[in-house]
Amino acid sequence: MAPYCVLAARLRHALNSGVRRYHVAPVLCQRAKVAMSHFEPNEYVNYEKLEKNINIVRKRLDRPLTLSEKIVYGHLDDPEKQEIERGKTYLRLRPDRVAMQDATAQMAMLQFISSGLPKVAVPSTIHCDHLIEAQSGGEKDLRRAKDINQEVYNFLATAGAKYGVGFWKPGSGIIHQIILENYSYPGVMLIGTDSHTPNGGGLGGICIGVGGADAVDVMAGIPWELKCPKVIGVKLTGKLSGWSSPKDVILKVAGILTVKGGTGAIIEYHGPGVDSISCTGMATICNMGAEIGATTSIFPYNARMKKYLGKTGRAEIAALADEFQQHLVPDSGCQYDQVIEINLSELKPHINGPFTPDLAHPVSDIGAVAEKEGWPVDIRVGLIGSCTNSSYEDMGRSAAVAKQALARGLKCKSKFTITPGSEQIRATIERDGYAQILRDVGGLVLANACGPCIGQWDRKDIKKGDKNTIVTSYNRNFTGRNDANPETHAFVTSPEIVTALSIAGTLKFNPETDYLTGADGKKFKLEAPDADELPKLEFDPGQDTYQYPPKDGSGQHVDVSPTSQRLQLLEPFDKWDGKDLEDMLILIKVKGKCTTDHISAAGPWLKFRGHLDNISNNLLIGAINVENGKANSVRNALTQEFGPVPDTARYYKKMGVKWAVIGDENYGEGSSREHAALEPRHLGGRVIITKSFARIHETNLKKQGLLPLTFADPADYNKIHPVDKLSIVGLADFAPGKPLKCIIKHPNGSQETIMLNHTFNESQIEWFQAGSALNRMKELQQK
Ligand code: SF4
Repeated sequence: MAPYCVLAARLRHALNSGVRRYHVAPVLCQRAKVAMSHFEPNEYVNYEKLEKNINIVRKRLDRPLTLSEKIVYGHLDDPEKQEIERGKTYLRLRPDRVAMQDATAQMAMLQFISSGLPKVAVPSTIHCDHLIEAQSGGEKDLRRAKDINQEVYNFLATAGAKYGVGFWKPGSGIIHQIILENYSYPGVMLIGTDSHTPNGGGLGGICIGVGGADAVDVMAGIPWELKCPKVIGVKLTGKLSGWSSPKDVILKVAGILTVKGGTGAIIEYHGPGVDSISCTGMATICNMGAEIGATTSIFPYNARMKKYLGKTGRAEIAALADEFQQHLVPDSGCQYDQVIEINLSELKPHINGPFTPDLAHPVSDIGAVAEKEGWPVDIRVGLIGSCTNSSYEDMGRSAAVAKQALARGLKCKSKFTITPGSEQIRATIERDGYAQILRDVGGLVLANACGPCIGQWDRKDIKKGDKNTIVTSYNRNFTGRNDANPETHAFVTSPEIVTALSIAGTLKFNPETDYLTGADGKKFKLEAPDADELPKLEFDPGQDTYQYPPKDGSGQHVDVSPTSQRLQLLEPFDKWDGKDLEDMLILIKVKGKCTTDHISAAGPWLKFRGHLDNISNNLLIGAINVENGKANSVRNALTQEFGPVPDTARYYKKMGVKWAVIGDENYGEGSSREHAALEPRHLGGRVIITKSFARIHETNLKKQGLLPLTFADPADYNKIHPVDKLSIVGLADFAPGKPLKCIIKHPNGSQETIMLNHTFNESQIEWFQAGSALNRMKELQQK
């Protein structure tokens, strides 16, 4: 049976049988019944199924397996027949669960509603974290957000109740921290509609960031496709100590691999150094693997994970993991596609940036480098927290630095903010005194949410356009991400270094060697921070912020007003008309870096994430036009006038003209946001041609019926000019592995032909033909 037929047969069965839970959990688990989480007492960890699948695959491949191979192949839909070749074949997988953050959940749930299915097929959750703007501090900001976003929160809560999805209310915390505290466990496979989902790898899970359409597939009980990942091994030796922290491991790896070095690969950490890192520290490292384009990152099950599971009320899962430990660590003798070795004993504190997370500098060098490069050395704001670094240990180490400054009568010279990762962390650091120490040193504790990390920051200390420096313990520092100011030089580093630098107020301070002057005029050095990885007492859970889905939500009404400015039901995209794409205009030829932040900006635009037409007004407004070096200024090829990108796209759409985008390397890196694919499709785009794509964005484009294509010869990027017309020919014979032809028509009448590659497999070609993956799913339903 062809792969697509298997998919179709299974989908038909899923849709007809009424038994929608295809994931491996409940039925097959006989050895021990341990719930996957406290919130789903009837959904069980199923290591027996994992073991069975691993044994089948090991026998077939007849070689030792890496850890990520064990977990990924342990979730194969058909382990007997699945073709497995790293970097080549597409795997059909059965993830155990789905998580969605509020900004991406809106579109995912709107697509799920369009699918017509009554209930999700696997345990799924929604997390309200992205829509809370940092302004005056925790409680006030939360109240304001609940008021402003009431319509969206109500939609997500009611859609969750109707379709069986758990709902984490605003104030509960950041998705990845909640997942680590409650849902990730060794051996789980989880997909999340957020690029930092790999955070859960700190607990030994395969946790992968995807677009909403992928999440809809899994929630619909359809096997989820992933290109069989390569495996990069990072061998850790030595021991972390002093000012060096888990963040420095990933900052160092980012410097080695760069923002696209992990593309198509899982980063697998191993070696004796692993045990010197706390579980939450391992999560930090996995979290930021997204910055190097990795599919995900993972650590092997160990005593630090066991301790964390015990402290978060999941000792039963740890006991079961002990029993199945051989499947939760790599086989000895397994082969990696590439190996990097890092001696933790020699690792120095790092700070990366500005404008890109792979520009690595030892903290000892940054002052001199900044002066040489003309980057402002005075730090305006230090920001700690986010999903990357908001653990109890992170807060403890920052508080340990702050305490030393306070003892000498000092406060932060820079402004200083703290974002707790979850309500549980907030309540526990309040109880244990860390929050007060951080406030005493000058900090403002913000809501348990993403806040400035995603541009939700009502920043008042500078004007837009002012050149300035900020340091954060976040993961991303793309231009304008935090405050929409392209002149903000953002650097990422560990929370304890952010705290030390905020006290000193300058990038020229190296806490390992430099002295501060106390209020008494005496010089002193900060000692390297030391803090407990977990609280001595139990965690304080704080306020109850979870809404269970009812057993039967079928009577629940879900509100989407036709006049809403925030929510809009989706219309299906048009089907492929069976013809080649001829004489397309070029909306923009992009110069240089083009992340999903450039394609669909966050910050103030987050409020339109549930309304496709409104959010399309931010299409590509951050991308630089090669023709004039400007952002959001492109030539309208029909009128010859320059204007904003979205307006030009709308004009072409109105005139019935299809268009293309030309991009550079690693197009669409960054967030998983599928709006970056939905928007061009909505406004009439058909083709995106680049030198290379980031993984999630490439899949998102395919899912929405666009053609992501790459130059067979990257130098052909220079052959296309913004005023040319493009035709993609040979679509009638569109087939996996077969390049497509592109005819470039220049304005002087000459033309030339170039070849374009693609990574479509058979079922993905059907998505294109149907207009989108969702259209295809509906076609199958109707059959
Ligand atoms: S990276 Fe920032 S915006 Fe994304 S989930 Fe983490 S805290 Fe939120």
